[in-house]
Amino acid sequence: MTKPLFSKTGYIKGRQCLKALYLHKKYPSAKDPLPPERKARFEIGHEIGIKARALYPGGTYASSKNVNGYKESVEITRQLMEQGCPTLYEAAFMHERIIVYCDILIKDDQQSNIAEVKSRNYISETYLEDLALQYFATSGSGIQVSSALLITLKSKAAETDFTNMPSAIFEETDLTAYCKEEINHIQEEILKMKWMLTSSTPPLIEMGEHCDQPYPCDFKNFCRSKNEFPQEGLFRNSIDHD
Ligand code: SF4
Repeated sequence: MTKPLFSKTGYIKGRQCLKALYLHKKYPSAKDPLPPERKARFEIGHEIGIKARALYPGGTYASSKNVNGYKESVEITRQLMEQGCPTLYEAAFMHERIIVYCDILIKDDQQSNIAEVKSRNYISETYLEDLALQYFATSGSGIQVSSALLITLKSKAAETDFTNMPSAIFEETDLTAYCKEEINHIQEEILKMKWMLTSSTPPLIEMGEHCDQPYPCDFKNFCRSKNEFPQEGLFRNSIDHD
């Protein structure tokens, strides 16, 4: 199996800024340390993702525990799908060298429904893009996807009583039509990103409002420091040649 080029995280970074994707892929050590509040937010999001599984209980975890075990994850998912497992959590699919992990996948005869869980009580542009990419990669890998759902909270996380029934906590929105319409656009964006990643230097992109939209970028210190690369490292040759 060919190694994935990037995951959904990389794609969302690339949509925000191609340079951020480039650095994420080729110079990850240049990332700023993760602020504690963002780390806490990720952890809350993870916990809410697990709680949302109660909407579709009894599923099987379909990925490798190894964070770099993409091959294993795709293989575990493939085997569970073949065995007819009705519900999978973190099912892994790869298409066009993009790997995605579906929070919840529910099999319905020969078709599958995918669901992405978000820890907010609204649907943002980024959530739409995120789900559309999941749909793109899952259906592109050969799975017949009959619906793509976004699962959000009914109220803000801090105001939610998580002891309630799952149906009282979560809202499910069917965005299948949107995902289908986005396929060509996603294809174009991926091509652009792949082409950009073949370059030996990052794209020339100045800092601006996009550095905080939709998320604070991880490479602000790098970009503020006039893009000074270390003497040793990935770009040493390209710098030497400049
Ligand atoms: S700090 Fe801004 S310009 Fe630099 S990589 Fe991030 S988004 Fe792009």
